[in-house]
Amino acid sequence: MGTERVYNFSAGPSMLPFEVLERAGAEITNYQGSGMSVMEMSHRSKVFDKIFQDTKANFIRLFHVPDNYKVLFLQGGASGQFSMVPLNLIGKTGKADYAVTGNFASIAYKEAKKYGTISLAASSEDKNHTYIPQQNQLKLDSEASYFYYCANNTIYGTEWQYVPDTGDVPIVCDMSSNFLSRPVDVSKYGVIFGGAQKNLAPAGLTIAIVREDLAGHELPYTPLMMNYKTMIDKDSMYNTPPCWCIYMLGLVLEWLDSKGGVEGMEKIKHDKAALLYDVLDNSKLFTCAAEKASRSDMNVTFRSVSEELDAKFVKEATAAGFTNLKGHRNVGGMRASIYNAMPVEGVEKLADFIRAFDKAN
Ligand SMILES: *Cc1c(COP(=O)(O)O)cnc(C)c1O
Repeated sequence: MGTERVYNFSAGPSMLPFEVLERAGAEITNYQGSGMSVMEMSHRSKVFDKIFQDTKANFIRLFHVPDNYKVLFLQGGASGQFSMVPLNLIGKTGKADYAVTGNFASIAYKEAKKYGTISLAASSEDKNHTYIPQQNQLKLDSEASYFYYCANNTIYGTEWQYVPDTGDVPIVCDMSSNFLSRPVDVSKYGVIFGGAQKNLAPAGLTIAIVREDLAGHELPYTPLMMNYKTMIDKDSMYNTPPCWCIYMLGLVLEWLDSKGGVEGMEKIKHDKAALLYDVLDNSKLFTCAAEKASRSDMNVTFRSVSEELDAKFVKEATAAGFTNLKGHRNVGGMRASIYNAMPVEGVEKLADFIRAFDKAN
């Protein structure tokens, strides 16, 4: 094993802020004089309760979550929400609209079909998900129980640049891969959810923000553990929550706060992405996979002129300390995931590397 940390461009789980890892390391055997690790604590203990409540309060403050929403700390991954969303929400009219702009939205769409009549509001499959449909391309049903979309398509490198207007139909959004990278007007949504392992914490924690009036109307066979109401009533503690991940989220939120919160992140992440897109656009060798207007600030997908050269790029990049740049098999080429915790310096150095590779080849 090498002794130096690499710039890890993994799509997820992905980098955590260095300061957060150091702090967790320092506290790992004895959390603030408690004589034990957070990993060893009862979730009902006073010490852990403070961690839990402080973390929740900071999340609400930093993400500007209004009073009529509940923040839930769950397990089961973002994929678990693909089932939880229809189980809890579709009962209203038995119908829902889905926009399929990538792999995860497609899985969510297929899963929802088990529970009701699901309409395809839009699909970008015709162009291998290289773009985000515009508002006037959405086929919306005013009778839908909800409208579903995925804000950032991790695999394809596209990101919605607007919040769809769906009238009175509640919007459900998967924000797994751009959570807390920019300010969001939560009041425009019914449910926002995401797995924590891209932008917020280690794998094992799923966050759901649920407008309170939407809970309590679940289908009768909804499993106890998949019922938003169960978790709202017990403040995410019906059973043992993912304690360690919640603690880690708390540390990440403190770090985020010190960087100016989501407002601070928005500026930094956009500059980071622009740096890479600029180098790629000005290269002879590389092209970006996503259409310009739909490009993601979190996952930059690109390719060179041949698969052989792509492989050479990935190999040489890895040797130079830039890891996990190989693209997803659905897209090919390369993908640089530059979430909140990727330092600006890592992106600058990758940009230099791309420039030099372009010249040399
Ligand atoms: C990674 C990812 C998922 C899957 O998350 P799990 O927590 O592994 O279930 C779903 N949606 C998006 C947008 C993702 O990036």
